[in-house]
Amino acid sequence: MTLSHDLFARARVRMPGGVNSPVRAFAAVGGEPVFFERAEGAHMFDVDGKRYIDYIGSWGPMICGHSHPKIIEAVQAAVAKGLSFGTPSPGEVTMAEKICELIPSLDQVRMVNSGTEAAMSALRVARAATGRERFIKFEGCYHGHADSFLVKAGSGAQTLGVPTSPGVPKGLAELTLNAKFNDLDSVEALFKQYPDEIACVAVEPIAGNMNCIPPEPGFLEGLRELCDRYGAALLFDEVMTGFRVHPQGAQGLYGITPDLTCFGKVIGAGMPVGAFGGKMEYMKLVAPSGPVYQAGTLSGNPVAMAAGLANLELIGEPGFYDRLGETTRQLAEGLQRVADEAGIPMATVAVGGMFGFFFTEQNRVVNFDQAAACDLERFKAFFTGMLAEGIYLAPSAFEAGFVSSAHSQSDVDETLAAAERVLGQISK
Ligand code: PLP
Repeated sequence: MTLSHDLFARARVRMPGGVNSPVRAFAAVGGEPVFFERAEGAHMFDVDGKRYIDYIGSWGPMICGHSHPKIIEAVQAAVAKGLSFGTPSPGEVTMAEKICELIPSLDQVRMVNSGTEAAMSALRVARAATGRERFIKFEGCYHGHADSFLVKAGSGAQTLGVPTSPGVPKGLAELTLNAKFNDLDSVEALFKQYPDEIACVAVEPIAGNMNCIPPEPGFLEGLRELCDRYGAALLFDEVMTGFRVHPQGAQGLYGITPDLTCFGKVIGAGMPVGAFGGKMEYMKLVAPSGPVYQAGTLSGNPVAMAAGLANLELIGEPGFYDRLGETTRQLAEGLQRVADEAGIPMATVAVGGMFGFFFTEQNRVVNFDQAAACDLERFKAFFTGMLAEGIYLAPSAFEAGFVSSAHSQSDVDETLAAAERVLGQISK
């Protein structure tokens, strides 16, 4: 028996499902989760001493690899001065200046403690700014676990919110409208149905919570145009894509200007951080400038700001995104090649430091229905085989993968050699 097994047995007694966030429990792939105690660069080490090449990167923040010396140093220096003051402190000012300088669509930004808080608060601002209560999101997109976002329309109820999670009030769920990702007609139909009632369209500009699905050409432009036409705000949830796919996030990569943007992950470098920001006409509404209440005991925490600023400095180095994109492309193309050689139908995708792979006969996957129709059993077998090989992929077919600047050519080669063996096994 392993130490991971013992820990999970104890965890299940005192923690729901033995974890503090559901996807960690391995429910979608079977088996028991691995408990980790140390991570460095592209590698993580479990409590039983096994080394893994990590493609989760703590779900996105670790774009420079784990335990980067410059980030650890910045955190240690900040810790030595105090953990939290509950007052304004210099790091928050530098962070706000830095984010607004990097992302031209932002006049102001408010720091929060998670992506969930960022999305929840940005939605509140959009509702307040427009005086409207309904909003549109996309099936398969995730914006954290605030009530309004935990809603997914069933096939027969495209326009009527059906709570995905018990505990979400029906009255609130009805205000959440679900459209199809990469399908502008489904968005326009909702605007036509509720022309004066939609506060915003919230979208992951590259969907990373139904595997990895980039926008089709014209999709984001079309959303911008529809929002302008119907007087709604365009809310980009860049919690995952922000500083991961381009120095200016997905909005920079595709050249679209949203009204409001959410961030998380990379801007915290592994500390609990989120942020939302936008044009002044929206941000002036946020308390104490305006009446939209939003607050946080630990928001703008000095240690978290130090970590995030060190990360933003590292990703600003010349050529950072070229190298990251190249490693990610090599990984995705390599996976495609070994799958093709094994005769296993697969579609792969890479954008910046994000990648995805689908066990499907289709050339590419563009929405949730298609992602859900992929061979999930085959994913499970692949995941399990790769884990045994020491390759740590997300334990769900509906998550994007993440590469860091610490992933070397030999990490990619090792991963592809393992994939070749595992795909060879599961093709039999
Ligand atoms: N938005 C997106 C696009 C995300 O991917 C996530 C988390 O994965 C969130 C929001 C929620 O962020 P958090 O888990 O920090 O609350």
